[in-house]
Amino acid sequence: WVAASLTKKRLTLARFSGDSAAPLATKFDVIVVGGGHAGTEAAAAAARCGSRTLLLTHRVDTIGQMSCNPSFGGIGKGHLMREVDALDGLCSRICDQSGVHYKVLNRRKGPAVWGLRAQIDRKLYKQNMQKEILNTPLLTVQEGAVEDLILTEPEPEYTGKCRVSGVVLADGSTVHAESVVLTTGTFLRGVIVIGLEMHPAGRLGDQPSVGLAHTLEKLGFVVGRLKTGTPPRIAKESINFSILNKQTPDNPSIPFSFISETVWIKPEDQLPCYLTHTNPKVDEIVLENLHLNSHIKETTRGPRYCPSIESKVLRFPNRLHQVWLEPEGMDSDLIYPQGLSVTLPAELQEKMITCIKGLEKAKMIQPGYGVQYDYLDPRQITPSLETHLVQRLFFAGQINGTTGYEEAAAQGVIAGINASLRVKRKPPFVVSRTEGYIGVLIDDLTTLGTNEPYRMFTSRAEFRLSLRPDNADSRLTFRGYKEVGCVSQQRYERASWMKSSLEEGISVLKSIEFSSSKWKKLIPEASISIGKSLPLRALDVLKYEEVDMKLLATAVPAPLKKYITCRELAERLKIEDWGC
Ligand code: FAD
Repeated sequence: WVAASLTKKRLTLARFSGDSAAPLATKFDVIVVGGGHAGTEAAAAAARCGSRTLLLTHRVDTIGQMSCNPSFGGIGKGHLMREVDALDGLCSRICDQSGVHYKVLNRRKGPAVWGLRAQIDRKLYKQNMQKEILNTPLLTVQEGAVEDLILTEPEPEYTGKCRVSGVVLADGSTVHAESVVLTTGTFLRGVIVIGLEMHPAGRLGDQPSVGLAHTLEKLGFVVGRLKTGTPPRIAKESINFSILNKQTPDNPSIPFSFISETVWIKPEDQLPCYLTHTNPKVDEIVLENLHLNSHIKETTRGPRYCPSIESKVLRFPNRLHQVWLEPEGMDSDLIYPQGLSVTLPAELQEKMITCIKGLEKAKMIQPGYGVQYDYLDPRQITPSLETHLVQRLFFAGQINGTTGYEEAAAQGVIAGINASLRVKRKPPFVVSRTEGYIGVLIDDLTTLGTNEPYRMFTSRAEFRLSLRPDNADSRLTFRGYKEVGCVSQQRYERASWMKSSLEEGISVLKSIEFSSSKWKKLIPEASISIGKSLPLRALDVLKYEEVDMKLLATAVPAPLKKYITCRELAERLKIEDWGC
Protein backbone atom coordinates (compact mmCIF):
# COMPACT_ATOMS: atom_id res chain seq x y z
CA TRP A 1 0.00 0.00 0.00
CA VAL A 2 3.01 2.27 0.40
CA ALA A 3 3.27 3.71 -3.06
CA ALA A 4 2.27 1.08 -5.55
CA SER A 5 -1.06 2.64 -6.36
CA LEU A 6 0.16 6.21 -6.59
CA THR A 7 -0.09 8.00 -9.89
CA LYS A 8 2.96 9.85 -11.17
CA LYS A 9 1.58 13.12 -9.85
CA ARG A 10 0.92 11.70 -6.43
CA LEU A 11 4.41 10.19 -6.33
CA THR A 12 5.86 13.65 -6.84
CA LEU A 13 3.83 14.87 -3.90
CA ALA A 14 4.72 11.89 -1.74
CA ARG A 15 8.41 12.54 -2.30
CA PHE A 16 8.16 15.79 -0.30
CA SER A 17 7.39 13.89 2.87
CA GLY A 18 10.77 12.61 3.87
CA ASP A 19 12.81 10.05 1.94
CA SER A 20 10.30 8.26 -0.31
CA ALA A 21 12.89 5.62 -1.24
CA ALA A 22 13.20 4.48 2.38
CA PRO A 23 10.73 1.82 3.53
CA LEU A 24 7.87 3.23 5.57
CA ALA A 25 8.41 2.86 9.29
CA THR A 26 5.84 0.63 10.96
CA LYS A 27 5.83 2.50 14.28
CA PHE A 28 4.96 6.14 14.92
CA ASP A 29 4.10 8.23 17.95
CA VAL A 30 0.82 9.45 16.45
CA ILE A 31 -1.26 8.25 13.49
CA VAL A 32 -3.89 10.61 12.07
CA VAL A 33 -6.49 9.01 9.80
CA GLY A 34 -7.96 11.39 7.19
CA GLY A 35 -6.44 14.33 5.31
CA GLY A 36 -9.41 16.74 5.53
CA HIS A 37 -9.60 19.93 7.56
CA ALA A 38 -9.45 18.18 10.93
CA GLY A 39 -6.79 15.67 9.86
CA THR A 40 -4.35 18.17 8.38
CA GLU A 41 -4.49 20.33 11.51
CA ALA A 42 -4.21 17.30 13.81
CA ALA A 43 -1.22 15.84 11.96
CA ALA A 44 0.62 19.15 11.74
CA ALA A 45 -0.09 19.97 15.41
CA ALA A 46 1.15 16.57 16.64
CA ALA A 47 4.33 17.01 14.57
CA ARG A 48 4.82 20.57 15.85
CA CYS A 49 4.62 19.16 19.38
CA GLY A 50 7.57 16.92 18.50
CA SER A 51 5.77 13.62 17.81
CA ARG A 52 6.74 11.40 14.89
CA THR A 53 3.44 11.49 13.06
CA LEU A 54 1.89 9.56 10.17
CA LEU A 55 -1.01 11.03 8.21
CA LEU A 56 -2.89 8.21 6.50
CA THR A 57 -5.52 9.24 4.02
CA HIS A 58 -7.31 7.74 1.03
CA ARG A 59 -5.67 10.06 -1.52
CA VAL A 60 -2.80 12.50 -1.18
CA ASP A 61 -4.23 14.61 -4.00
CA THR A 62 -7.41 15.31 -1.99
CA ILE A 63 -5.55 16.62 1.07
CA GLY A 64 -7.07 20.01 1.86
CA GLN A 65 -10.08 19.47 -0.39
CA MET A 66 -12.98 21.82 0.29
CA SER A 67 -15.91 19.41 -0.12
CA CYS A 68 -18.59 22.06 -0.30
CA ASN A 69 -18.41 25.87 -0.21
CA PRO A 70 -15.37 27.71 -1.66
CA SER A 71 -15.11 29.94 1.40
CA PHE A 72 -13.65 30.02 4.88
CA GLY A 73 -14.63 32.01 7.97
CA GLY A 74 -17.70 34.05 8.80
CA ILE A 75 -19.30 35.00 12.08
CA GLY A 76 -18.17 32.56 14.78
CA LYS A 77 -16.25 30.51 12.22
CA GLY A 78 -13.76 33.34 11.70
CA HIS A 79 -13.27 33.38 15.49
CA LEU A 80 -12.39 29.68 15.43
CA MET A 81 -9.89 30.24 12.62
CA ARG A 82 -8.12 32.96 14.60
CA GLU A 83 -7.84 30.59 17.57
CA VAL A 84 -6.51 27.77 15.39
CA ASP A 85 -3.99 30.28 14.06
CA ALA A 86 -3.05 31.40 17.58
CA LEU A 87 -2.01 27.78 18.21
CA ASP A 88 0.04 27.92 14.98
CA GLY A 89 -2.54 25.92 13.00
CA LEU A 90 -2.55 26.02 9.23
CA CYS A 91 -5.90 27.04 7.76
CA SER A 92 -5.66 30.80 8.41
CA ARG A 93 -2.22 31.13 6.86
CA ILE A 94 -3.27 29.00 3.88
CA CYS A 95 -6.37 31.17 3.40
CA ASP A 96 -4.16 34.28 3.35
CA GLN A 97 -2.29 32.66 0.45
CA SER A 98 -5.35 31.37 -1.44
CA GLY A 99 -8.30 33.80 -1.18
CA VAL A 100 -9.95 35.60 -4.09
CA HIS A 101 -12.31 37.90 -2.12
CA TYR A 102 -11.72 38.96 1.49
CA LYS A 103 -14.49 40.61 3.49
CA VAL A 104 -15.13 41.18 7.19
CA LEU A 105 -18.81 40.53 7.99
CA ASN A 106 -20.79 42.40 10.64
CA ARG A 107 -18.51 45.47 10.49
CA ARG A 108 -21.36 47.71 11.57
CA LYS A 109 -21.65 45.82 14.85
CA GLY A 110 -19.11 45.63 17.67
CA PRO A 111 -15.66 44.05 17.12
CA ALA A 112 -16.61 41.05 19.26
CA VAL A 113 -18.84 39.79 16.45
CA TRP A 114 -16.83 40.78 13.38
CA GLY A 115 -16.54 37.79 11.10
CA LEU A 116 -13.42 37.40 8.99
CA ARG A 117 -14.45 35.64 5.80
CA ALA A 118 -13.00 34.97 2.36
CA GLN A 119 -13.89 33.29 -0.90
CA ILE A 120 -11.10 30.81 -1.52
CA ASP A 121 -9.55 29.47 -4.71
CA ARG A 122 -10.13 25.73 -4.20
CA LYS A 123 -7.19 24.66 -6.35
CA LEU A 124 -4.78 27.07 -4.71
CA TYR A 125 -5.93 26.13 -1.18
CA LYS A 126 -5.34 22.46 -1.91
CA GLN A 127 -1.93 23.15 -3.48
CA ASN A 128 -0.80 25.36 -0.61
CA MET A 129 -2.12 22.96 2.04
CA GLN A 130 -0.41 19.99 0.39
CA LYS A 131 2.86 21.91 0.14
CA GLU A 132 2.64 22.80 3.84
CA ILE A 133 1.71 19.29 4.99
CA LEU A 134 4.27 17.54 2.80
CA ASN A 135 7.02 19.81 4.11
CA THR A 136 6.21 19.56 7.82
CA PRO A 137 9.15 18.14 9.80
CA LEU A 138 8.41 14.85 11.63
CA LEU A 139 5.29 14.30 9.50
CA THR A 140 5.05 11.40 7.03
CA VAL A 141 2.12 11.31 4.63
CA GLN A 142 0.92 8.08 3.04
CA GLU A 143 -2.08 6.93 1.07
CA GLY A 144 -4.12 4.09 2.52
CA ALA A 145 -7.61 3.17 3.68
CA VAL A 146 -7.78 2.35 7.38
CA GLU A 147 -10.19 -0.53 7.95
CA ASP A 148 -9.60 -1.53 11.55
CA LEU A 149 -7.88 -0.61 14.81
CA ILE A 150 -5.25 -2.62 16.69
CA LEU A 151 -6.21 -2.85 20.35
CA THR A 152 -4.27 -3.93 23.41
CA GLU A 153 -4.63 -4.12 27.18
CA PRO A 154 -5.64 -0.83 28.84
CA GLU A 155 -3.29 1.15 31.06
CA PRO A 156 -4.68 0.57 34.58
CA GLU A 157 -4.28 4.19 35.69
CA TYR A 158 -6.72 5.43 33.05
CA THR A 159 -10.37 4.64 32.30
CA GLY A 160 -11.27 2.79 29.11
CA LYS A 161 -11.82 -0.85 28.27
CA CYS A 162 -8.81 -1.16 25.97
CA ARG A 163 -6.02 0.89 24.38
CA VAL A 164 -5.42 1.56 20.70
CA SER A 165 -1.94 0.73 19.46
CA GLY A 166 -2.20 1.05 15.71
CA VAL A 167 -4.29 0.61 12.59
CA VAL A 168 -4.98 -2.07 10.00
CA LEU A 169 -5.11 -1.04 6.36
CA ALA A 170 -7.32 -2.37 3.58
CA ASP A 171 -4.54 -4.70 2.32
CA GLY A 172 -4.10 -6.19 5.79
CA SER A 173 -0.83 -4.39 6.58
CA THR A 174 -0.46 -2.78 10.00
CA VAL A 175 1.14 0.38 11.38
CA HIS A 176 1.65 0.88 15.09
CA ALA A 177 1.43 4.08 17.11
CA GLU A 178 1.08 5.31 20.67
CA SER A 179 -1.99 7.44 19.82
CA VAL A 180 -4.47 7.42 16.93
CA VAL A 181 -6.68 10.32 15.78
CA LEU A 182 -9.70 9.56 13.57
CA THR A 183 -10.87 12.43 11.34
CA THR A 184 -12.93 10.58 8.74
CA GLY A 185 -15.44 13.36 7.98
CA THR A 186 -18.56 12.27 6.08
CA PHE A 187 -16.95 8.98 5.07
CA LEU A 188 -18.19 6.54 7.76
CA ARG A 189 -20.76 4.45 5.84
CA GLY A 190 -21.21 7.49 3.58
CA VAL A 191 -23.93 7.34 0.92
CA ILE A 192 -24.43 10.06 -1.68
CA VAL A 193 -27.87 10.86 -3.04
CA ILE A 194 -29.21 12.56 -6.17
CA GLY A 195 -32.94 12.24 -6.76
CA LEU A 196 -33.85 8.59 -6.07
CA GLU A 197 -30.31 7.33 -6.76
CA MET A 198 -28.09 6.38 -3.84
CA HIS A 199 -24.43 5.27 -4.04
CA PRO A 200 -21.97 4.37 -1.29
CA ALA A 201 -19.39 7.23 -1.22
CA GLY A 202 -17.70 9.53 1.29
CA ARG A 203 -18.24 12.45 -1.09
CA LEU A 204 -18.53 12.63 -4.90
CA GLY A 205 -15.72 10.50 -6.41
CA ASP A 206 -14.48 9.07 -3.07
CA GLN A 207 -15.00 5.62 -1.52
CA PRO A 208 -16.83 5.42 1.82
CA SER A 209 -15.26 4.07 4.98
CA VAL A 210 -17.24 0.97 5.92
CA GLY A 211 -14.82 -1.34 7.76
CA LEU A 212 -13.88 1.34 10.26
CA ALA A 213 -17.55 2.15 10.90
CA HIS A 214 -18.17 -1.51 11.77
CA THR A 215 -15.13 -1.59 14.06
CA LEU A 216 -16.31 1.46 16.01
CA GLU A 217 -19.81 0.06 16.36
CA LYS A 218 -18.50 -3.33 17.52
CA LEU A 219 -16.39 -1.56 20.13
CA GLY A 220 -19.60 -0.19 21.62
CA PHE A 221 -19.53 3.41 20.40
CA VAL A 222 -22.98 5.01 20.06
CA VAL A 223 -23.39 5.87 16.38
CA GLY A 224 -25.93 8.27 14.84
CA ARG A 225 -26.74 9.27 11.29
CA LEU A 226 -26.67 12.79 9.81
CA LYS A 227 -26.97 14.29 6.35
CA THR A 228 -25.78 17.33 4.44
CA GLY A 229 -25.73 18.51 0.84
CA THR A 230 -24.00 20.68 -1.71
CA PRO A 231 -25.31 22.87 -4.57
CA PRO A 232 -24.77 22.31 -8.30
CA ARG A 233 -21.84 24.08 -9.99
CA ILE A 234 -22.62 26.49 -12.84
CA ALA A 235 -20.56 27.60 -15.87
CA LYS A 236 -19.45 31.20 -15.22
CA GLU A 237 -19.78 32.30 -18.85
CA SER A 238 -23.44 31.23 -18.91
CA ILE A 239 -24.51 33.68 -16.16
CA ASN A 240 -25.84 37.18 -16.83
CA PHE A 241 -24.04 39.05 -14.04
CA SER A 242 -24.93 42.46 -15.48
CA ILE A 243 -28.46 42.38 -13.99
CA LEU A 244 -27.40 41.23 -10.52
CA ASN A 245 -26.22 42.97 -7.33
CA LYS A 246 -22.45 43.00 -7.15
CA GLN A 247 -20.51 42.66 -3.90
CA THR A 248 -16.94 43.91 -3.89
CA PRO A 249 -14.23 42.84 -1.45
CA ASP A 250 -12.87 44.99 1.40
CA ASN A 251 -10.06 47.43 0.77
CA PRO A 252 -7.72 46.85 2.53
CA SER A 253 -8.05 43.08 2.97
CA ILE A 254 -7.75 41.90 6.56
CA PRO A 255 -5.66 38.72 6.81
CA PHE A 256 -6.85 35.74 8.87
CA SER A 257 -3.46 34.99 10.41
CA PHE A 258 -1.72 36.99 13.14
CA ILE A 259 1.56 36.49 11.34
CA SER A 260 0.44 37.55 7.85
CA GLU A 261 1.19 41.22 7.18
CA THR A 262 -1.22 41.11 4.28
CA VAL A 263 -2.91 38.65 1.90
CA TRP A 264 -1.34 37.41 -1.32
CA ILE A 265 -3.59 39.40 -3.68
CA LYS A 266 -4.40 43.12 -3.95
CA PRO A 267 -8.07 44.13 -3.40
CA GLU A 268 -8.32 45.50 -6.95
CA ASP A 269 -7.32 42.09 -8.37
CA GLN A 270 -9.86 40.16 -6.30
CA LEU A 271 -13.10 38.75 -7.72
CA PRO A 272 -16.61 40.00 -6.94
CA CYS A 273 -19.60 37.95 -5.75
CA TYR A 274 -23.16 38.50 -6.98
CA LEU A 275 -26.54 38.21 -5.30
CA THR A 276 -29.73 36.82 -6.78
CA HIS A 277 -32.90 35.29 -5.28
CA THR A 278 -35.20 32.32 -5.68
CA ASN A 279 -38.83 32.91 -6.72
CA PRO A 280 -42.21 31.09 -6.63
CA LYS A 281 -41.25 29.02 -9.71
CA VAL A 282 -38.39 27.46 -7.71
CA ASP A 283 -40.81 26.59 -4.88
CA GLU A 284 -43.14 24.99 -7.41
CA ILE A 285 -40.43 22.73 -8.88
CA VAL A 286 -39.31 21.65 -5.41
CA LEU A 287 -42.82 20.94 -4.11
CA GLU A 288 -44.03 19.13 -7.24
CA ASN A 289 -41.07 16.74 -7.15
CA LEU A 290 -40.72 15.79 -3.51
CA HIS A 291 -41.55 12.18 -4.45
CA LEU A 292 -38.37 12.10 -6.59
CA ASN A 293 -36.13 13.27 -3.75
CA SER A 294 -34.95 10.51 -1.35
CA HIS A 295 -32.66 12.80 0.65
CA ILE A 296 -35.57 14.99 1.73
CA LYS A 297 -37.68 12.00 2.71
CA GLU A 298 -34.91 10.69 5.00
CA THR A 299 -35.61 11.31 8.67
CA THR A 300 -31.91 11.95 9.44
CA ARG A 301 -31.10 15.55 10.44
CA GLY A 302 -29.44 18.01 8.06
CA PRO A 303 -27.61 21.27 8.81
CA ARG A 304 -30.24 23.67 10.21
CA TYR A 305 -28.12 26.74 9.50
CA CYS A 306 -27.01 25.75 6.01
CA PRO A 307 -30.24 24.15 4.79
CA SER A 308 -31.04 22.75 1.37
CA ILE A 309 -33.38 24.72 -0.88
CA GLU A 310 -35.94 21.97 -0.32
CA SER A 311 -35.83 22.48 3.48
CA LYS A 312 -36.14 26.25 3.03
CA VAL A 313 -39.13 25.94 0.72
CA LEU A 314 -40.83 23.49 3.10
CA ARG A 315 -40.11 25.50 6.27
CA PHE A 316 -40.56 29.00 4.86
CA PRO A 317 -42.95 28.77 1.89
CA ASN A 318 -43.61 31.78 -0.37
CA ARG A 319 -40.37 33.52 0.53
CA LEU A 320 -37.57 34.67 -1.72
CA HIS A 321 -34.32 33.09 -0.61
CA GLN A 322 -30.90 34.59 -1.26
CA VAL A 323 -28.53 32.88 -3.67
CA TRP A 324 -24.95 34.17 -3.62
CA LEU A 325 -22.98 33.47 -6.77
CA GLU A 326 -19.45 32.85 -5.57
CA PRO A 327 -16.27 32.34 -7.61
CA GLU A 328 -14.56 28.95 -7.21
CA GLY A 329 -11.12 30.34 -8.02
CA MET A 330 -9.03 32.78 -10.02
CA ASP A 331 -8.84 30.58 -13.13
CA SER A 332 -12.01 28.59 -12.49
CA ASP A 333 -14.87 28.61 -14.98
CA LEU A 334 -17.24 27.53 -12.21
CA ILE A 335 -19.59 29.46 -9.96
CA TYR A 336 -20.87 28.10 -6.66
CA PRO A 337 -24.50 29.15 -6.00
CA GLN A 338 -24.49 29.41 -2.20
CA GLY A 339 -27.97 28.83 -0.79
CA LEU A 340 -29.00 26.39 -3.50
CA SER A 341 -27.96 23.06 -1.99
CA VAL A 342 -30.29 20.56 -3.66
CA THR A 343 -30.78 16.82 -4.22
CA LEU A 344 -33.46 16.79 -6.92
CA PRO A 345 -32.70 14.63 -10.00
CA ALA A 346 -30.09 16.40 -12.17
CA GLU A 347 -32.49 17.44 -14.97
CA LEU A 348 -34.83 19.07 -12.45
CA GLN A 349 -31.91 20.89 -10.83
CA GLU A 350 -31.08 22.42 -14.21
CA LYS A 351 -34.73 23.39 -14.74
CA MET A 352 -34.84 25.00 -11.29
CA ILE A 353 -31.63 26.98 -11.83
CA THR A 354 -32.82 28.51 -15.10
CA CYS A 355 -35.90 29.99 -13.34
CA ILE A 356 -33.65 32.29 -11.32
CA LYS A 357 -32.81 35.87 -12.32
CA GLY A 358 -29.42 36.05 -14.04
CA LEU A 359 -29.33 32.26 -14.46
CA GLU A 360 -31.89 32.03 -17.28
CA LYS A 361 -29.24 30.57 -19.63
CA ALA A 362 -27.11 28.94 -16.94
CA LYS A 363 -25.30 25.71 -17.79
CA MET A 364 -25.03 23.22 -14.94
CA ILE A 365 -21.59 21.55 -14.93
CA GLN A 366 -22.06 19.30 -11.89
CA PRO A 367 -25.34 18.54 -10.10
CA GLY A 368 -25.85 19.16 -6.41
CA TYR A 369 -25.98 16.07 -4.20
CA GLY A 370 -26.58 14.99 -0.64
CA VAL A 371 -24.50 12.80 1.64
CA GLN A 372 -25.67 10.70 4.59
CA TYR A 373 -23.10 9.41 7.04
CA ASP A 374 -22.43 7.98 10.50
CA TYR A 375 -21.22 10.21 13.31
CA LEU A 376 -20.27 9.26 16.84
CA ASP A 377 -22.11 10.75 19.78
CA PRO A 378 -19.52 13.29 20.98
CA ARG A 379 -20.47 12.73 24.63
CA GLN A 380 -18.21 9.69 24.25
CA ILE A 381 -15.11 11.90 24.18
CA THR A 382 -13.34 13.97 26.83
CA PRO A 383 -12.49 17.70 26.51
CA SER A 384 -9.09 16.60 25.15
CA LEU A 385 -11.04 14.70 22.43
CA GLU A 386 -9.84 11.28 23.64
CA THR A 387 -12.56 8.64 23.77
CA HIS A 388 -13.80 7.34 27.11
CA LEU A 389 -14.03 3.81 25.71
CA VAL A 390 -10.65 3.34 24.05
CA GLN A 391 -7.53 4.85 25.58
CA ARG A 392 -5.33 6.97 23.28
CA LEU A 393 -7.98 7.05 20.57
CA PHE A 394 -9.05 10.59 19.59
CA PHE A 395 -11.90 11.80 17.34
CA ALA A 396 -11.97 15.19 15.58
CA GLY A 397 -14.08 16.91 12.93
CA GLN A 398 -17.31 15.90 11.26
CA ILE A 399 -17.06 12.42 12.85
CA ASN A 400 -18.11 14.21 16.09
CA GLY A 401 -21.31 15.59 14.54
CA THR A 402 -20.05 19.04 13.52
CA THR A 403 -20.31 20.69 10.12
CA GLY A 404 -17.85 23.09 8.54
CA TYR A 405 -14.17 23.34 7.76
CA GLU A 406 -13.47 25.68 10.69
CA GLU A 407 -15.18 23.51 13.31
CA ALA A 408 -13.18 20.55 11.95
CA ALA A 409 -9.89 22.47 11.97
CA ALA A 410 -10.47 23.65 15.56
CA GLN A 411 -11.01 20.11 16.81
CA GLY A 412 -8.11 18.85 14.71
CA VAL A 413 -5.55 21.12 16.32
CA ILE A 414 -6.71 20.13 19.83
CA ALA A 415 -6.78 16.40 19.03
CA GLY A 416 -3.29 16.55 17.47
CA ILE A 417 -1.83 18.38 20.48
CA ASN A 418 -3.45 15.97 22.94
CA ALA A 419 -2.54 12.84 21.00
CA SER A 420 1.07 14.01 21.25
CA LEU A 421 0.82 14.98 24.94
CA ARG A 422 -0.65 11.53 25.70
CA VAL A 423 2.42 9.87 24.17
CA LYS A 424 4.61 12.01 26.42
CA ARG A 425 2.38 11.19 29.43
CA LYS A 426 1.77 14.90 29.96
CA PRO A 427 -1.53 16.41 31.20
CA PRO A 428 -4.08 17.24 28.49
CA PHE A 429 -4.35 20.67 26.87
CA VAL A 430 -7.92 21.86 27.35
CA VAL A 431 -9.37 25.21 26.28
CA SER A 432 -12.18 26.41 28.56
CA ARG A 433 -15.34 28.27 27.54
CA THR A 434 -13.86 31.43 29.07
CA GLU A 435 -10.72 31.16 26.95
CA GLY A 436 -12.01 30.53 23.48
CA TYR A 437 -14.63 29.49 20.97
CA ILE A 438 -12.68 26.22 20.71
CA GLY A 439 -13.61 25.67 24.36
CA VAL A 440 -17.25 26.48 23.68
CA LEU A 441 -17.34 24.07 20.72
CA ILE A 442 -15.75 21.17 22.57
CA ASP A 443 -17.66 21.77 25.80
CA ASP A 444 -21.00 21.87 23.93
CA LEU A 445 -20.19 18.67 22.07
CA THR A 446 -18.82 16.67 24.99
CA THR A 447 -21.47 17.68 27.52
CA LEU A 448 -24.64 18.19 25.45
CA GLY A 449 -23.93 16.06 22.38
CA THR A 450 -25.75 16.93 19.16
CA ASN A 451 -28.46 15.40 17.03
CA GLU A 452 -27.98 17.77 14.08
CA PRO A 453 -24.81 19.00 12.34
CA TYR A 454 -23.31 21.40 14.91
CA ARG A 455 -22.11 24.79 13.69
CA MET A 456 -20.45 27.62 15.60
CA PHE A 457 -22.19 30.95 16.27
CA THR A 458 -21.14 33.88 18.43
CA SER A 459 -24.40 33.45 20.38
CA ARG A 460 -23.09 30.12 21.73
CA ALA A 461 -20.28 31.91 23.62
CA GLU A 462 -21.30 33.42 26.96
CA PHE A 463 -18.03 35.38 27.14
CA ARG A 464 -18.14 36.67 23.57
CA LEU A 465 -17.29 40.27 24.51
CA SER A 466 -13.83 39.14 25.55
CA LEU A 467 -13.39 36.23 23.08
CA ARG A 468 -12.81 38.51 20.12
CA PRO A 469 -11.03 37.56 16.89
CA ASP A 470 -8.41 40.28 17.47
CA ASN A 471 -7.16 38.93 20.81
CA ALA A 472 -6.99 35.17 20.18
CA ASP A 473 -3.18 35.34 20.33
CA SER A 474 -3.19 36.76 23.85
CA ARG A 475 -5.60 34.02 24.92
CA LEU A 476 -3.87 31.02 23.36
CA THR A 477 -0.44 31.63 21.82
CA PHE A 478 1.44 31.85 25.12
CA ARG A 479 -0.24 28.70 26.44
CA GLY A 480 0.53 26.89 23.18
CA TYR A 481 4.17 27.94 23.34
CA LYS A 482 4.86 27.36 27.03
CA GLU A 483 2.61 24.41 27.89
CA VAL A 484 2.79 22.24 24.78
CA GLY A 485 5.36 23.62 22.36
CA CYS A 486 3.01 23.70 19.36
CA VAL A 487 3.78 27.37 18.61
CA SER A 488 6.81 28.48 16.62
CA GLN A 489 9.43 30.86 18.00
CA GLN A 490 8.51 33.39 15.28
CA ARG A 491 4.84 33.44 16.31
CA TYR A 492 5.72 33.59 20.01
CA GLU A 493 7.98 36.59 19.38
CA ARG A 494 5.30 38.32 17.34
CA ALA A 495 2.69 37.75 20.11
CA SER A 496 5.19 38.97 22.75
CA TRP A 497 5.94 42.09 20.69
CA MET A 498 2.21 42.78 20.34
CA LYS A 499 1.66 42.31 24.09
CA SER A 500 4.46 44.69 25.08
CA SER A 501 3.48 47.24 22.39
CA LEU A 502 -0.09 47.25 23.69
CA GLU A 503 1.08 47.73 27.27
CA GLU A 504 3.42 50.54 26.25
CA GLY A 505 0.75 52.13 24.03
CA ILE A 506 -1.74 52.14 26.88
CA SER A 507 0.63 53.80 29.30
CA VAL A 508 1.45 56.47 26.69
CA LEU A 509 -2.27 57.04 26.04
CA LYS A 510 -2.85 57.38 29.78
CA SER A 511 -0.05 59.90 30.11
CA ILE A 512 -1.36 62.36 27.46
CA GLU A 513 -3.78 64.70 29.18
CA PHE A 514 -5.43 67.94 28.01
CA SER A 515 -8.51 69.91 28.95
CA SER A 516 -11.58 68.85 26.97
CA SER A 517 -11.74 72.24 25.25
CA LYS A 518 -8.20 71.66 23.91
CA TRP A 519 -9.22 68.18 22.75
CA LYS A 520 -12.23 69.72 20.98
CA LYS A 521 -9.87 71.97 19.06
CA LEU A 522 -7.42 69.17 18.31
CA ILE A 523 -10.12 66.72 17.18
CA PRO A 524 -13.17 68.72 16.00
CA GLU A 525 -14.56 65.51 14.44
CA ALA A 526 -15.29 64.08 17.91
CA SER A 527 -18.33 65.17 19.90
CA ILE A 528 -16.45 65.40 23.20
CA SER A 529 -19.18 66.17 25.72
CA ILE A 530 -17.45 66.75 28.99
CA GLY A 531 -16.98 69.94 31.07
CA LYS A 532 -14.78 72.48 29.24
CA SER A 533 -11.85 72.68 31.61
CA LEU A 534 -11.88 69.10 32.85
CA PRO A 535 -8.74 67.14 32.01
CA LEU A 536 -9.17 64.18 29.70
CA ARG A 537 -6.64 61.47 28.84
CA ALA A 538 -5.98 60.34 25.26
CA LEU A 539 -7.12 56.87 26.38
CA ASP A 540 -10.57 58.31 27.24
CA VAL A 541 -10.78 60.30 24.00
CA LEU A 542 -10.05 57.10 22.07
CA LYS A 543 -13.30 55.63 23.43
CA TYR A 544 -15.37 58.11 21.37
CA GLU A 545 -16.84 56.34 18.36
CA GLU A 546 -15.49 58.86 15.84
CA VAL A 547 -11.94 58.67 17.18
CA ASP A 548 -9.38 56.11 16.14
CA MET A 549 -5.62 55.92 16.61
CA LYS A 550 -5.00 57.57 13.25
CA LEU A 551 -7.01 60.63 14.25
CA LEU A 552 -5.38 60.76 17.67
CA ALA A 553 -1.93 60.50 16.11
CA THR A 554 -2.74 63.42 13.80
CA ALA A 555 -3.73 65.48 16.85
CA VAL A 556 -0.75 64.46 19.00
CA PRO A 557 1.81 63.13 16.54
CA ALA A 558 5.04 62.97 18.51
CA PRO A 559 4.26 60.20 21.00
CA LEU A 560 1.53 58.39 19.02
CA LYS A 561 2.77 58.15 15.41
CA LYS A 562 4.66 54.93 16.04
CA TYR A 563 1.46 53.13 17.10
CA ILE A 564 -0.24 53.59 13.75
CA THR A 565 2.51 51.98 11.68
CA CYS A 566 0.96 48.57 12.50
CA ARG A 567 -2.74 48.38 11.54
CA GLU A 568 -3.46 45.59 13.98
CA LEU A 569 -1.80 47.35 16.92
CA ALA A 570 -3.70 50.59 16.23
CA GLU A 571 -6.98 48.68 15.97
CA ARG A 572 -6.41 46.71 19.17
CA LEU A 573 -5.56 49.86 21.15
CA LYS A 574 -8.94 51.21 20.13
CA ILE A 575 -10.97 48.01 20.61
CA GLU A 576 -9.78 46.70 23.97
CA ASP A 577 -11.41 47.94 27.14
CA TRP A 578 -8.30 48.94 29.05
CA GLY A 579 -10.17 49.82 32.25
CA CYS A 580 -9.01 52.85 34.20
P1 FAD B 1 -13.33 15.71 5.57
O1 FAD B 1 -12.93 17.05 5.10
O2 FAD B 1 -14.52 15.08 4.97
O3 FAD B 1 -12.09 14.75 5.42
C1 FAD B 1 -12.14 13.39 5.72
C2 FAD B 1 -10.88 12.75 5.20
O4 FAD B 1 -10.73 11.46 5.73
C3 FAD B 1 -10.85 12.59 3.68
O5 FAD B 1 -9.61 13.01 3.22
C4 FAD B 1 -11.02 11.07 3.49
O6 FAD B 1 -10.40 10.61 2.30
C5 FAD B 1 -10.34 10.54 4.72
N1 FAD B 1 -10.80 9.22 5.16
C6 FAD B 1 -12.04 8.88 5.53
N2 FAD B 1 -12.07 7.60 5.93
C7 FAD B 1 -10.81 7.13 5.83
C8 FAD B 1 -10.20 5.88 6.09
N3 FAD B 1 -10.89 4.84 6.57
N4 FAD B 1 -8.88 5.71 5.83
C9 FAD B 1 -8.15 6.76 5.35
N5 FAD B 1 -8.67 7.97 5.08
C10 FAD B 1 -9.99 8.16 5.32
N6 FAD B 1 -20.05 22.09 5.67
C11 FAD B 1 -20.68 23.24 5.91
O7 FAD B 1 -20.27 23.99 6.79
N7 FAD B 1 -21.77 23.58 5.19
C12 FAD B 1 -22.25 22.79 4.20
O8 FAD B 1 -23.23 23.11 3.60
C13 FAD B 1 -21.59 21.59 3.93
N8 FAD B 1 -22.03 20.77 2.96
C14 FAD B 1 -21.35 19.66 2.66
C15 FAD B 1 -21.78 18.87 1.60
C16 FAD B 1 -21.11 17.73 1.26
C17 FAD B 1 -21.61 16.92 0.13
C18 FAD B 1 -19.99 17.35 2.01
C19 FAD B 1 -19.24 16.10 1.65
C20 FAD B 1 -19.56 18.11 3.06
C21 FAD B 1 -20.25 19.27 3.40
N9 FAD B 1 -19.86 20.10 4.45
C22 FAD B 1 -20.48 21.27 4.70
C23 FAD B 1 -18.96 19.66 5.44
C24 FAD B 1 -17.51 20.03 5.34
O9 FAD B 1 -17.00 19.61 4.12
C25 FAD B 1 -16.94 19.26 6.49
O10 FAD B 1 -17.50 19.76 7.69
C26 FAD B 1 -15.48 19.30 6.65
O11 FAD B 1 -14.83 19.00 5.45
C27 FAD B 1 -15.15 18.25 7.70
O12 FAD B 1 -13.79 18.09 7.81
P2 FAD B 1 -13.21 16.71 8.28
O13 FAD B 1 -11.75 16.88 8.31
O14 FAD B 1 -13.90 16.26 9.49
O15 FAD B 1 -13.60 15.68 7.13
